[in-house]
Amino acid sequence: MKTGKVVALSGGIGGAKLALGLDRVLAPGQLTIIANTGDDFRHLGLHISPDIDTLLYTLAGLDDPVRGWGRRDETWNFMQALGQIGGETWFQLGDGDLAIHVERTRRLAGGETLSEVTDGLRRRLGIASAIVPMSDDPVRTRVETDEGWLDFQHYFVRRRCEPRVRALEFAGAATARLAANALAALSDPALAAIIICPSNPYLSVDPIRAVPGLREALHAASAPVIAVSPIIAGQAVKGPTAKMMAELGLMPSAATVAEHYAGLIDVFVVDEADAETGVGGAEKRVGPTLMRNLDDKIGLARLVLGVTGWTV
Ligand code: GDP
Repeated sequence: MKTGKVVALSGGIGGAKLALGLDRVLAPGQLTIIANTGDDFRHLGLHISPDIDTLLYTLAGLDDPVRGWGRRDETWNFMQALGQIGGETWFQLGDGDLAIHVERTRRLAGGETLSEVTDGLRRRLGIASAIVPMSDDPVRTRVETDEGWLDFQHYFVRRRCEPRVRALEFAGAATARLAANALAALSDPALAAIIICPSNPYLSVDPIRAVPGLREALHAASAPVIAVSPIIAGQAVKGPTAKMMAELGLMPSAATVAEHYAGLIDVFVVDEADAETGVGGAEKRVGPTLMRNLDDKIGLARLVLGVTGWTV
């Protein structure tokens, strides 16, 4: 295996699939994953970081492959008891999952940064790759819909992405500082590739891009920026990406995502189903991008790293 470092930008479920493939083919310490924290929120007094948790559970092998979120072998006594006493139950928190939110909240209250807490959790869970929040400062994604402005989780979970989206904002992004470990990873002279995972470009990648300094760090890095399309044959594999694109007046297609990333990326990886699509000024790579199992994730990780000339 070649040496060198890799940075991946990731949201939750789609991003974590490729992040797992990268984690499996790279040596311990080669990969840094910069996670979206625009979905973070406070609920029941707890600090919840959904995308960081998806990455932690996925890379630790604790994720629930059937439900697609949360921990496997989860139990729900807390939610049942909470409902019984009239508490808020629209955001599901499993008994095991609760532990991470309680522990994170406790450590943050004790003065640790989100970066420190996340690093402590991933070490305890035996994850070799670094997982870094985009910022230790709060950035909160808000969605303007036909029902007015909604906090992200109210749109995503409580309202199940049903309201029509008109616009998005990332409150706090203008004054947020790029996390020190994220900047260090992007400035590493050994950096060989920057990968934008197949995450929702608008909800998961744009909040990361909105943090001042990120764009400059990407431009300053000599490593190629390689994005994988989350849209295959005009459809999202999961979640509201395609629906949201249509509501924003955009054609849901890999080409539209490539256009969205114009000027930022060097290479755009599309699925075989989109082999003929245009990708603007980027170099196009075509391959199987649907990740149904670990082999698919490893295969896509190899394809993406192959852009750099690495054989892994
Ligand atoms: P979230 O934060 O949990 O919503 O997850 P992400 O933003 O990381 O991922 C959502 C995106 O992942 C959606 O646009 C999906 O189309 C995409 N996605 C999920 N699974 C796959 C897959 O196997 N292949 C590709 N190419 N995209 C995927």
